[in-house]
Amino acid sequence: MPIYQYDCAGCERRVDILFRSVRRIGPAICPECGGTDLKRAVSQVARARSERERLDSIDVNQELGRLESGDVSGFSRWARRMGRDLGSDIGGEFSALADKADAGEDPIERVDPGHTLRYQVEKRRATLDGGGDSGTPAGGG
Ligand SMILES: [Zn+2]
Repeated sequence: MPIYQYDCAGCERRVDILFRSVRRIGPAICPECGGTDLKRAVSQVARARSERERLDSIDVNQELGRLESGDVSGFSRWARRMGRDLGSDIGGEFSALADKADAGEDPIERVDPGHTLRYQVEKRRATLDGGGDSGTPAGGG
């Protein structure tokens, strides 16, 4: 059952509200004051988890398949799309690459975008894991 955090405008508290299922998420009512003016809050934990899931779901080869051509403008379009899709810190990196390419520069990352993507994903994962500089990935899968 999903639990969502809301910020209540009535009592200015952050409250946890449990829904019976994702399909039944409806108007939230504050358990503290009964107010209905609630705004979804994104908890740190929930955000870290969903970003982790997103990172795990990235298939580098599949993403590379979306790179139409190896020239600068093709790379720019791809990097911009990656920036939008990834959304996180990694997305920022790729948006910056797209800006460079659009400005007529030829980013060094263009030579091996797969390596760049893999590197960024691994780096971000390490950060989410609490970031030692070296560490063996947990097994299983
Ligand atoms: Zn309230």
